[in-house]
Amino acid sequence: MGARTGEEFLRGLRESPREVYIEGDLVRDVTEHRAFRNVLGSLAHLYGMQHDPAIRADMTYPSPDSGDLVGTPYMQPRTKDDLLKRSRAMSHWARYSHGMMGRTPDYLSSATMAFAAAKDYFASTDARFGENVERYYRHARENDLCLTHTLINPQANRTVGPSGQADPFLAARVVKETDGGIIIRGARMLATLGPLADEIQVFPSTVVKTGPEDAPYAFGFVIACDTPGLKFICRETYDLNRTRHDHPLGSRFEEMDAVVIFDDVLVPWERVFLYGDPELANGAFGATNAVIHMAHQVMAKNIAKTEFMLGLVSLIVETIAIEPFQHVHEKVAEIIIGLETMRALRSAAENDAQLDRWGVMTPARGPLDAARNLYPKLYPRFVEIVQQLSASGLMATPTEADINGPIGPDIERFFTAARAGSRERIALFRLAWDTAVSSFGSRQVLYERFFFGDPVRMAGALYNTYDKQPYMDRVRAFIGEGITESANGDDTG
Ligand SMILES: Cc1cc2nc3c(=O)[nH]c(=O)nc-3n(C[C@H](O)[C@H](O)[C@H](O)COP(=O)(O)OP(=O)(O)OC[C@H]3O[C@@H](n4cnc5c(N)ncnc54)[C@H](O)[C@@H]3O)c2cc1C
Repeated sequence: MGARTGEEFLRGLRESPREVYIEGDLVRDVTEHRAFRNVLGSLAHLYGMQHDPAIRADMTYPSPDSGDLVGTPYMQPRTKDDLLKRSRAMSHWARYSHGMMGRTPDYLSSATMAFAAAKDYFASTDARFGENVERYYRHARENDLCLTHTLINPQANRTVGPSGQADPFLAARVVKETDGGIIIRGARMLATLGPLADEIQVFPSTVVKTGPEDAPYAFGFVIACDTPGLKFICRETYDLNRTRHDHPLGSRFEEMDAVVIFDDVLVPWERVFLYGDPELANGAFGATNAVIHMAHQVMAKNIAKTEFMLGLVSLIVETIAIEPFQHVHEKVAEIIIGLETMRALRSAAENDAQLDRWGVMTPARGPLDAARNLYPKLYPRFVEIVQQLSASGLMATPTEADINGPIGPDIERFFTAARAGSRERIALFRLAWDTAVSSFGSRQVLYERFFFGDPVRMAGALYNTYDKQPYMDRVRAFIGEGITESANGDDTG
């Protein structure tokens, strides 16, 4: 099939009715529901971009199997040019939503391609698992599948692991093996885009490591979202089906988050990648370098999102003429520094990329680890800056119906700004409101804080894995020199 069009993507969803619960409704065809229609339009647009002659050379490459053009995010990069092509493709997609869609399909294509390159890792418990990973990658690439994933166990009692919960079937676990596969029962905490993806990867978290008693909870597999027994319980939607004027972001980019329930789901053996080896399961993202390629994709989002925040804040400053004030400069400069830092970290990761042990051109991990620990602090600050500089402007935001209604003439008169007419000013501040105040905007902050893991444990992982020894040695040597000099009486003070 190769790279899909938007219509092909939507048809795929229509033809795979799933079990999605939202606001009291059971929804089988998500393309028809008001909570999903608009964001699906945006996802369809992303698929369509693969066929745009202006960027097709970035967005696609010839499949090594079929020769068909397939999506670049599925490419296993062998050279730096390949890596940069992936980077450009991911940036085209990120710019479309200004980074407001975190779970564009390239996030999980990146993991899927890395897993396949490292198939020997999965084969180390069972040769079939290595073959499964490789076969699945080809299937996903050739059919241009949209994947999401779910990693975290339900948040009931975090003092104990999944086996220590009051209900041993709270967290998804293997109930039994059959000739056909493994049966999974229980829940996983969250899947962004879960109800809207074609398939879902169910993997262990990279950071949550537990004891041997948690072995039945350690597995990795991928199944279609219409697999019998798989249920998605959505949060309330933040797309209220208002106009683009009123909810400029929520009406387009409202990715859904859902809790995932496995009601005795049969996972066929050919879809199992990890099973029976908790240590292997816990190490999968790191050892295969999937986490690095995912973090590389995240940089495209971070950069697009920070560019958007800089543009938004600068327009606010200009519109209401607050540029004379020094603290305003400082706040805008904070965003500029954030943007340049993200760009520099991505460039460093790409410049220092090397072939990994699986033969994949892999960005340098250090800069990407720095970025994924930094951005959860930067983004909430950017939102705070939008609030601080917009102030009451965020509340002086009548709707399109108000503007076109009987009070329109008053709005025309009283909502003007130094450098914008009222309509232009209101449109700008409605965008600022949807970024920094609305439920859509608040969820973006929460997403940036947590989607890549608990920031506290991510920092802990960095502390534990970063090689600090050379710097300790250098400081120790410096101290040693001082002690020697004092002992020799040549300390000049
Ligand atoms: C908007 C959004 C979208 C998401 N999308 C996805 C998705 O698509 N797929 C997916 O798998 N996950 C997703 N996540 C989940 C994300 O991975 C988790 O939020 C993150 O890993 C933190 O886990 P938790 O939410 O269970 O928090 P918890 O682990 O319950 O933590 C709650 C608090 O307790 C503290 N805490 C808990 N345990 C420890 C500990 N051992 N040591 C120190 N402190 C601890 C934490 O620091 C935190 O302050 C999403 C989250 C959000 C908010």
